[in-house]
Amino acid sequence: MDDISGMTEDDWKAKLTPDQYHILRERGTEYPGTGKLLHNDKTGDYTCAGCGNVLFNSATKFESNEWPSFYNVVDQKAIRVEHDDSFGMARSEVFCAKCGGALGHVFNDSPEQPTGLRFCINSAALDFKPEKS
Ligand code: FE
Repeated sequence: MDDISGMTEDDWKAKLTPDQYHILRERGTEYPGTGKLLHNDKTGDYTCAGCGNVLFNSATKFESNEWPSFYNVVDQKAIRVEHDDSFGMARSEVFCAKCGGALGHVFNDSPEQPTGLRFCINSAALDFKPEKS
């Protein structure tokens, strides 16, 4: 993982692309159906684009036409979930537990069992690390 201790907002602006900065640091949302990892079906880990924290694995990714969707996290301690009432909707917002970057939202309407969870995560908040064969 990257050393992100003591990083200022200017440091984040220098480290991240404008899209990554908007999503991770300003809690932005990418337009549905557009993200670079939406239809990625390769085997590997999805890490935080801000700090490299391992968040999701391809084994729990499922098809969506909106945002990359997962039914579980690699480790509950990798994320922090907060209540979000913005835009008049009661939702649960997902943050990286290490760098505090905003990743997306989690809903409990997933068709995927056993969790029934649908982590809806912005592509720009993620990097993909293919499994080494
Ligand atoms: Fe992070």
